[in-house]
Amino acid sequence: MSWESTALYYRLINQDVKQRCGGLHSAPLILHSVDFTGIAELQHNNDWHTLSDTLCSIAKKLEQAGAEALMICTNTMHKVAKDITNVVQIPVLHIGDAILAACHAQSITKVGLLGTAFTMEQPFLKAYLSDGGLDVLVPDESGRQTVHNVIYDELCQGKVFDASRAQYQQIIESLKERGAQAVILGCTEIGLLIAQRDVSLPVLDTTELHAKLAVDFIVS
Ligand code: GLU
Repeated sequence: MSWESTALYYRLINQDVKQRCGGLHSAPLILHSVDFTGIAELQHNNDWHTLSDTLCSIAKKLEQAGAEALMICTNTMHKVAKDITNVVQIPVLHIGDAILAACHAQSITKVGLLGTAFTMEQPFLKAYLSDGGLDVLVPDESGRQTVHNVIYDELCQGKVFDASRAQYQQIIESLKERGAQAVILGCTEIGLLIAQRDVSLPVLDTTELHAKLAVDFIVS
């Protein structure tokens, strides 16, 4: 979606393929990169119908071009993951499955979730995680607003500020006080701002976890 996180995905997937397969190996990918301004506008106008149509049409083109699986490289647009699953024959590698696998592997049952307001407030990802056995906490209203604004006004535009990192650290600390055993960076740009060294809770970066799921598919 924002090219900032698309670039991260591209690098992570290729690095992991190289690490697992060695030599000159790299990832066979078909990338459809969007103009994110139109997408963000539709999100903020709550026009999920048009967004669903847009992503479904892209998904069909990728399938026709020979893709054997699909990734939606953002948490937020997993809101339309089911619609996409319905219009293609190939599997959609769901970001929620990547999160659940990491939590199960580390015996984590209660998690804090940071993401866009859409992801933190609507059920499409939270319910997916709860159905997979996780207890999901989100920040309070002002925390959610801060996290959301930093994503769209800064991170999606490649701006990384210490002051915003400090705000995120405080928000993550209060999730820890409420019992979270780990924090999900549930927006694919948050990894630009927060790394494991910045916080005391274990960090689950959805970009890294989702990229790993892609590589598991590629090498299988
Ligand atoms: N990339 C972000 C996410 O993971 C938000 C922006 C977008 O919609 O792609 O939710």
